[in-house]
Amino acid sequence: MTKDQARKIIKEQKLSMGERLVILGHHYQSDEIIEFADYVGDSLELSRKVSQLDKAEKIIFCGVYFMAETASVLAPDKEVYIPDPKAGCPLADMAGIRDVEHAWDVIGRISSSVVPITYVNSSVEVKAFCGMNGGVVCTSGNAARVFMWAMERASKVLFMPDRNLGRNTAISLGLKDNEIIEWDPSAKDGGVDEAGIKRARAILWRGWCPVHWPKLRPEDVNSIRQREPGIKVIVHPEADPLTVSKSDAAGSTAQILDYVKSLGKGSSVAVGTEFNMVNRLSMDFRPNVRVLPLNKVLCEDMARITPDKLAQCLVDPDDSQRVRVDATIADNAVKALDRMLKI
Ligand code: SF4
Repeated sequence: MTKDQARKIIKEQKLSMGERLVILGHHYQSDEIIEFADYVGDSLELSRKVSQLDKAEKIIFCGVYFMAETASVLAPDKEVYIPDPKAGCPLADMAGIRDVEHAWDVIGRISSSVVPITYVNSSVEVKAFCGMNGGVVCTSGNAARVFMWAMERASKVLFMPDRNLGRNTAISLGLKDNEIIEWDPSAKDGGVDEAGIKRARAILWRGWCPVHWPKLRPEDVNSIRQREPGIKVIVHPEADPLTVSKSDAAGSTAQILDYVKSLGKGSSVAVGTEFNMVNRLSMDFRPNVRVLPLNKVLCEDMARITPDKLAQCLVDPDDSQRVRVDATIADNAVKALDRMLKI
């Protein structure tokens, strides 16, 4: 299918289905997908949107699989599809449910005062695990609030799966280096000892987003500040803590958008996150604000969603494109999501 044929099909389907069809596009999608999105946002904004779409029958989530799964959990009465079910997330894949259960057993033998927190970038099984064990989901936008909520209830948090978001959040809340340890799922019993677990207030899963780490380096911040004196720098908190400490701000995709909006005419800002979003910000805010990439980083999984797959998913979806979540797992995942929404 050529790009023109795909565009024609998508337009026709949108016209004929009207409000019964909703296309959601994550900020990291390419312009050729965003053009057709009815709503653009971060994963949680989009998932929340799904539950408000009373007239929608068919929802196409243009993002990665865990996002479509979350949407399906929050809106079980809707048909949710993803144009390419192989659009996964390497970060989410770094926390397999069996490894998480093993970590919980080992840590539980040493301390019973632990709240599990999972970043929304995780499988529905890990969200359900948190739901069943008094835990909660968080996003990059509310991680600090969620950490505080958990630390009021227990002496430790087990945070999965992003080590950098975990460490950046713990540091922002004043935790000391020796109170933060990492659980390495590839090492025997996480590579940590009993004394380390007893001492820790934050146990961080050793996972990372390969788009944001280690590619957004502290040297990149130094170098852009040298080339562009006076430039502001904002990065996503999945970046290295040293990169975050050298930046003016860190925030989720929604917070990055707000930060750029808040800058005065004539400002320049370097943004450290996925290039499709940075490029779109640069178009949207020119000529008032100059937006540059801190480093050009792309998410290959987000790029799997293309106009031809979207067109095919609209006219003749196959079963693998329909996102279904087991009812018991969904019920437990909802518990962890609901706790977050109330914090
Ligand atoms: S940008 Fe990182 S966290 Fe987001 S989908 Fe891609 S790999 Fe996963």
